[in-house]
Amino acid sequence: MSGPASGDQNFARVIILGSGPAGLSAAIYAARAGLNPIVIQGMQPGGQLTITTEVENYPGFREAIQGPWLMEQMQAQAEHVGTRMVWDTIVDVDLSRRPFRLIADGGVTYTCDALIIATGAQARWLGAEGEAALSGKGVSACATCDGFFYRGREVCVIGGGNTAVEEALYLTNHSPSVTLIHRRDTLRAEKMLQDRLLAHPGIHVLWNKAVARFVGGGPGGALSGVALIDTVNGRISHHPTQGAFVAIGHKPATALFAGKMPLDEDQYLQVRPGTSLTAIPGVFAAGDVADKVYRQAVTAAGMGCMAALDAERFLQMNGGS
Ligand code: NDP
Repeated sequence: MSGPASGDQNFARVIILGSGPAGLSAAIYAARAGLNPIVIQGMQPGGQLTITTEVENYPGFREAIQGPWLMEQMQAQAEHVGTRMVWDTIVDVDLSRRPFRLIADGGVTYTCDALIIATGAQARWLGAEGEAALSGKGVSACATCDGFFYRGREVCVIGGGNTAVEEALYLTNHSPSVTLIHRRDTLRAEKMLQDRLLAHPGIHVLWNKAVARFVGGGPGGALSGVALIDTVNGRISHHPTQGAFVAIGHKPATALFAGKMPLDEDQYLQVRPGTSLTAIPGVFAAGDVADKVYRQAVTAAGMGCMAALDAERFLQMNGGS
C-alpha cells in the first residue's frame, strides 16, 4: 500500500462513494485489480434498486428478479473479490490535494489516492396525496423500468421536460393510450421531441393540469385514476388511469461537491465525454450522479466498470500520494 496513511484502516488506494450498481461494479473491478477498495455506503445502501420490486431488464436473468436481491448479490460479489464495505455518512470532502480526504459525520476521516463518486440520484416526486402509498401499485418514476408491467393498459405521464416526453413516447410501445399531464400550456422538452409527441396518434396531452391526488381502489388496491386540478381555472376533474409515471426530474446527490468541482446547470457531476474523468485528476464519477440521460442499472454498472479501469490507469501513471 502507498501513501502516508499506509496501514491506516481508513485509507484505501481507491474509495468508492455509493453502493448502487455503479459503485458496486466499480468495486468489483477495483478489487479484482488488487486495489483493495473501500465502498462507503450512503443513506440508502444498494441505491435506487432497493426501492424497486421486479427488475426485468438487467441482463443475465430470464425471469424477473427483485431489485433488493440483485443489489445483495452485487454486494456479495464485491466483498468476495476483496472489497471492504463500510457504512458511514460523508459530510465533507477535501479534494484539493492527494490523498483525498473524506470526513464522516462521526468525525472519522477516510483517505484515498483515487476517488470514485457513485452517489446516484433520486427521482423527484410530486408529494401529492396517495403517491407514496400507491408507489409500485400503479405509481412509478421510471417508465423504462416499469412500463412493461402496464402493457395493454391506459397510462399517463406527469411532466413536460425531455424525460416526460421520452417516457410518454416509450410507453406507446406497450399502451394503447398514453396521456401526458402537464401543469402549463407549453412543454419544456426539446422541439424535436415535442414534435414527435404531438404527432403521435397514441398520445393525448392534458394541458394546464396538476395532480391533486392519486386515487386507489383499483384491483388489489391499485391505482384507478388521478384527481386533477386545472392550473388556470382551479376546476377539479378525474382522469381514470392504471399507471401514472411521475417524470418531473431527478436530483443528483452532489451537495457534497458543490463549490469543489464543476456541476452542470442541473447539479450533475460533469465527466469528459466517453470517460469517467472529472475535472479533478484522480476523481472519477459513475452512474446516475453523472448521467441524466440513460439512468439505468445496466448503464450505471457499465460506468462503474469504466471508473474502476480509469482509476487503475490513473494510479499506474501517478502512483500513490
Ligand atoms: P426537467 O427539469 O427538464 O423537467 C421537469 C418537468 O417537470 C418540467 O416540465 C416541469 O414543469 C415539471 N415539473 C417539475 N415539478 C413539477 C411539479 N411539482 N408538478 C408538476 N410538474 C412539475 O427534468 P427532466 O428529467 O425532463 O430533464 C432533466 C435534464 O436532463 C434536462 O436538462 C434534460 O434536457 C435532460 N435530459 C436529456 C435527455 C436526452 O438528451 N435524451 C433525456 C432526459 C433528460 P415546468 O416546465 O412547468 O417547469
